[in-house]
Amino acid sequence: MKRYRIEPGSRVDLSAIDPDDKSAFSGGKDEASVEQAALRARLERLQELLYAEHQHKVLIVLQAMDAGGKDGTIRAVFEGVNPQGVSVVSFKVPSAEELDHDYLWRVHRHVPGKGQMVIFNRSHYEDVLIARVRDLVRPKVWRRRYDQINDFERMLAEEGTTLLKFFLHIDPDEQKQRLQSRLDDPHKRWKFNAGDLDERRLWPQYMEAYNDALSATSTEWAPWYVVPANAKWYRNHVVARVIVETLEGLEMRYPRPPAELSEIVIK
Ligand code: ATP
Ligand code: MG
Repeated sequence: MKRYRIEPGSRVDLSAIDPDDKSAFSGGKDEASVEQAALRARLERLQELLYAEHQHKVLIVLQAMDAGGKDGTIRAVFEGVNPQGVSVVSFKVPSAEELDHDYLWRVHRHVPGKGQMVIFNRSHYEDVLIARVRDLVRPKVWRRRYDQINDFERMLAEEGTTLLKFFLHIDPDEQKQRLQSRLDDPHKRWKFNAGDLDERRLWPQYMEAYNDALSATSTEWAPWYVVPANAKWYRNHVVARVIVETLEGLEMRYPRPPAELSEIVIK
């Protein structure tokens, strides 16, 4: 999965990354669904271990353009995990109270505790993306946020958090099809938001903002992965594999029972 990891210090150019790439999986959609079930089973076990060991903290950040598949990824990858140990936090337009504080205030209170896995559906990265594209703050302000974010994430990592950040990479044609199907399919209509069309018009500006943000904030302690996401099955496969392989790398152990346990007799 290394191929999708942004090496710290390297320059990202999303226009050079193919959203249709499927090169890390030899089979097609059908084979992938078998593999996905196996990955899900591994993730379930790992999450149980994370919860039982009560040491590590896991934070997963999902960013994408509208209809980029954040919700679908969460559903597909985390289906079956124990809801007690996993939560999803969606960051919407900040409230008045949130706007009265620094931009990390609302984020910090949701980071995972020991044994917990938290998924951010959007995140503090909105504050260098939409905030930049929509001129919500001056350039001087969003520019210095890259360092602030890196420092914040390094602190979380040093305090025991494993961070993984995914940008789900689709192209404008794929977005068009997905927005159109939200209009056409009565079951998807509730997802349609006319505001998405305004953001869609700013696609080049968003890509520029993403290029800069991904370049400036992919670090050893909180790497970005750019996931080819035009094909949903491939996107799910890549995200699940990165998470599973990273969690396996933590070498978690069930807590050791006290020695006397073997002497207990239940009558
Ligand atoms: P869906 O897939 O259901 O559309 P969504 O994440 O797009 O999910 P919405 O409620 O449609 O949810 O949109 C949230 C909006 O809030 C996005 O346009 C996002 O850019 C915006 N937003 C999130 N965080 C911030 C922020 N810090 N400042 C300004 N806007 C923000
Ligand atoms: Mg939306």
